[in-house]
Amino acid sequence: MKHGQRTFITAATAAALVLLVGCGSGDGATEGGSGTSSGTKLAVVATTPEVADFARTIGGSDVTVTQIIKPNVDPHDYEPTPADIQAIGKAAIVVKNGVGLEEWLDQTIESAGFKGTVVDSSQGVTLREGGHEEGEDGHEEGEGAHEAEEHDPHIWHNPQNAKTMVTNIEKGLAAADPAHATAFAGNLKSYSAELDKLDADNEAAFARIPADQRKLVTNHDAFGYYVDRYKLQFVGSVIPSLDTSAELSAKQLNDLVAKIKATGAKAIFAETSLPPKSAEAIANQAGVKVIGGEDALYGDSIGAEGTPQGTYLGAERHNTQVIVTALGG
Ligand SMILES: [Zn+2]
Repeated sequence: MKHGQRTFITAATAAALVLLVGCGSGDGATEGGSGTSSGTKLAVVATTPEVADFARTIGGSDVTVTQIIKPNVDPHDYEPTPADIQAIGKAAIVVKNGVGLEEWLDQTIESAGFKGTVVDSSQGVTLREGGHEEGEDGHEEGEGAHEAEEHDPHIWHNPQNAKTMVTNIEKGLAAADPAHATAFAGNLKSYSAELDKLDADNEAAFARIPADQRKLVTNHDAFGYYVDRYKLQFVGSVIPSLDTSAELSAKQLNDLVAKIKATGAKAIFAETSLPPKSAEAIANQAGVKVIGGEDALYGDSIGAEGTPQGTYLGAERHNTQVIVTALGG
């Protein structure tokens, strides 16, 4: 399977190269005389919906952003398409989330013959370890140790991390396109203020909920940075891992049900990019409700473009509103 795919990729790359040569899209076209409006825009490829939104926000009208992973698609087992490879082959910059979320990217970059800059938006973010070693009750699952060296890639759920991410993106764009650096810096400044406001609003929202009621049960383990930032208690998740591949054993399932009952957690929060079935089964056994449908959380994605949740800010505000309503109600 993998081999067949690689052959296909190579063919697509060849096609992309032919296209490139055909277009003659070079750089050296900046002659004297300012104010030329016809210059080609910086071609940016961004992997996840979150970093694509960041790149669009910081780049503004001076860049074109091709987003690889579409909204509400599980990013943990993504397989790149020939179109993705073609886009990367033509890009000047690839923006990634980092922290191992894009396992497919290195090989795709190689296949595409990409010669530009990869911006790792996670640079400088303080990473959480996987496996919840904080252990509220000192109870360590056997498989937890397995993931001890894994870092949690869901960094964007802390707005302060998002600020670091957009700062990295701004640096990358400015280095590749110095002529527009002032505009990028201006966009960074105003967006960073919005991220600070989001952070402050989240903090104020959770301050209204007693600390012992801030209990979160989610579909997969995507909210660690959020939990840390707003001092919530992570009770457990339906998929017991930082990615979405694991499955609860019968024992783990019973343990989770027991934990939900013991902690008095009020709900299981489903996610937009995951099927809610197991969550419903566990909720039934534990006697709590599933918050899903329109209220599903944006754990690994933001909403569809053009909807209120189609931006990072909109998706994060949705999450907090849903969680606070469910926990406080
Ligand atoms: Zn995830």
